[in-house]
Amino acid sequence: MSHDHPAARVDGNAIAGQVLDILGIDVTGLRGTCDGCGSEACLAEAVVELDDSAAIVRCRSCTRTLFTVLHTDASPRLIFGSLGSLSA
Ligand SMILES: [Zn+2]
Repeated sequence: MSHDHPAARVDGNAIAGQVLDILGIDVTGLRGTCDGCGSEACLAEAVVELDDSAAIVRCRSCTRTLFTVLHTDASPRLIFGSLGSLSA
């Protein structure tokens, strides 16, 4: 592992706990649609860029930001991006 890259690239499973803290649900088993390209995929399979201040969740197909979890405030904040819908 190189230390040159500040953000680690992981998958949606890595942010399950962060989202659970905010929404109270585990979203990794849900399917999300991307407003950018229309693709539907399990959130566990999304590309996540993780660092100390934020987790950026990207569409695996078009790399648009589906949503971001910010840790710069007193409590974690979920910022919606290209996530068009969620389904079970
Ligand atoms: Zn997309």
